[in-house]
Amino acid sequence: MQKKITIAIDGYSSCGKSTLAKSLAKKINYIFIDSGAMYRGVTLYCMRNQLIENGTPSTEKIINLLNEINLSFEYNTKTDKADLFLNNENVEELIRMPDVAANVSKIATIKEVRQRLVEEQQKMGVNGGIIMDGRDIGSVVFPAAELKLFVTASNEIRAQRRFDELIDKGVQTTFQEVYDNLVQRDELDSNRIESPLIQTSDAIVIDTSHLTREEQLNLAYHLYQKAID
Ligand code: C5P
Repeated sequence: MQKKITIAIDGYSSCGKSTLAKSLAKKINYIFIDSGAMYRGVTLYCMRNQLIENGTPSTEKIINLLNEINLSFEYNTKTDKADLFLNNENVEELIRMPDVAANVSKIATIKEVRQRLVEEQQKMGVNGGIIMDGRDIGSVVFPAAELKLFVTASNEIRAQRRFDELIDKGVQTTFQEVYDNLVQRDELDSNRIESPLIQTSDAIVIDTSHLTREEQLNLAYHLYQKAID
């Protein structure tokens, strides 16, 4: 039987890492976990419970309520991807909205939130055969992952891809709003004290700026084959 490894994919916002992770997981029959969805789920809970005041998270209150937040994933055969459930409610669509995107990186700076989510993520990966994407997967969640990818693309290309996605979903937004959110999140994610986004020295960089989805998948598959050999 083929050995099941752990694949960590990190990178900036909207660089195509989830799309790549999802297609690779399908090709090699691995579980795919979008860790960003979990941070978005906690953020939605905080927004609904008035735990973010004037853009500032009420950190103490959030920490005290962490046990009230139950996150789970359920596979959706239509999208070929797991949907996020927050306290048994499917919130997959809601967590992708710009208001959640505007707050998520602030919530992701809270140490206790990270500790809780990292613990859950590590449990999901205990048997290997998993591809997880995020910001701290190769550095903190699975530092011993056999394959680590760091995905990048230019700011303009990333913003355009996210903008097109949102417009497709019928969301009212502008390219500038999407661009600004992306730059702001990258800045917060890269400079926070708790497990900032870094490129680990053992990660392989994939720049998706000028690669088609198929080319990205072929490259990642080739790296996976090398890793299991
Ligand atoms: O990947 P996605 O863009 O959905 O992630 C949303 C946000 O969640 C990121 O901008 C980051 O602030 C946070 N995040 C994180 N660590 C992860 C995954 C996401 O801090 N492993």
